[in-house]
Amino acid sequence: MSTEEATSARSDQLLALTDRVAAHNYHPLPVVIADADGAWVTDVDGKRYLDMLAAYSALNFGHRHPRLVEAAKRQLDRVTLTSRAFHNELFGPFCEGLAELCGKDMVLTMNTGAEAVETAIKTARKWGYEVKGVAHDRAKIVVAQDNFHGRTTTIVSFSTDPAAYTNFGPLTPGFQAVPYGDIDALRAAIDDDTVGFLVEPIQGEAGIIVPPDGYLRAVRELCSERNVLFIADEIQSGLGRTGTTFAVEHEGVVPDIYILGKALGGGIMPLSAVVANRDILGVFRPGTHGSTFGGNPLACAVGLEVLDMLRTGEFQQRSTELGAWLIDALRDAGLPHVAEVRGRGLWVGIVLHPDAGTARASCERLMTRGVLAKDTHETTIRLAPPLVIERDDL
Ligand code: PLP
Repeated sequence: MSTEEATSARSDQLLALTDRVAAHNYHPLPVVIADADGAWVTDVDGKRYLDMLAAYSALNFGHRHPRLVEAAKRQLDRVTLTSRAFHNELFGPFCEGLAELCGKDMVLTMNTGAEAVETAIKTARKWGYEVKGVAHDRAKIVVAQDNFHGRTTTIVSFSTDPAAYTNFGPLTPGFQAVPYGDIDALRAAIDDDTVGFLVEPIQGEAGIIVPPDGYLRAVRELCSERNVLFIADEIQSGLGRTGTTFAVEHEGVVPDIYILGKALGGGIMPLSAVVANRDILGVFRPGTHGSTFGGNPLACAVGLEVLDMLRTGEFQQRSTELGAWLIDALRDAGLPHVAEVRGRGLWVGIVLHPDAGTARASCERLMTRGVLAKDTHETTIRLAPPLVIERDDL
């Protein structure tokens, strides 16, 4: 057997194993990664690929950034988990740093993005009953059509994608979806029971949809006027991805609640958070919410380093410069199968002409050429490389 046959056999074996023993809730590209560094990954056969997805932006700082690995290693030798039954040395400083980055008073830490979204929903409802004065069990949260906020039962209840919610009922009530980018629809949906508007400043899973100019500013004004919480899900759009620390900055607005995740944990630890002022997050009392792993010292050690790195502005700047370059290069290339190139910073959607085949097929072809990208919605290829990527690699 040649070396090549032997190594492919290893990959095939692992793909077959996964197919047999892991639930089929994903349809990954057939590449089995064994190592990674920066913007590059290597498969079990030693073939290198450029990672143009960055774990859906969880790897904004690249694979195994030395500062983050070092912070994690240091903490591994000290203490990794206390639960919130006790305090840990890094929890307060991490919350202080994150609150400061957001310009807010308080932080509630969780682990995954979906948990943070759930936390924001609970925050808005509790605020609605205890501060706004909404009648018992009447609270309504408005969301955008084509949203993606995670996979819990409540979150899929307000998804408009049938694949996300079908056969997962009974679904959680209390949500209304309006067209994304349509301020009049939002205005019409808000009533006296409305406690929040939950929205992605740029819709990621929907295909990198940038809302019309002025939309987020209008959302801010409307929410203030109607005493409704503006809840920005910056889990994917935040922390440098679009060229600013938060995507809402492109319109110069500040939401009432930030939801953060993914890159907050540096691609090493799941670390998510809800960040808001005291008049909002102050509704929580002991016993009303929690998480065994939320705010654990290992995640906080990595998170503190992430905050330090974001404060330099280096990653935001890279995203702005390289993103503009990439979008121009793609538009100027006059690619015959491409209908549209859109995005902000290093977050780009390439929309294919309907007759160009599926985006999935294009991603499979890209893979054979050593580039890992991910399709979304049949016709769109999304590019979201680590922000540490070199221009030459792009
Ligand atoms: N919100 C947004 C905007 C997301 O993009 C995602 C994940 O892709 C989530 C929430 C859910 O995050 P997680 O997969 O960590 O639960």
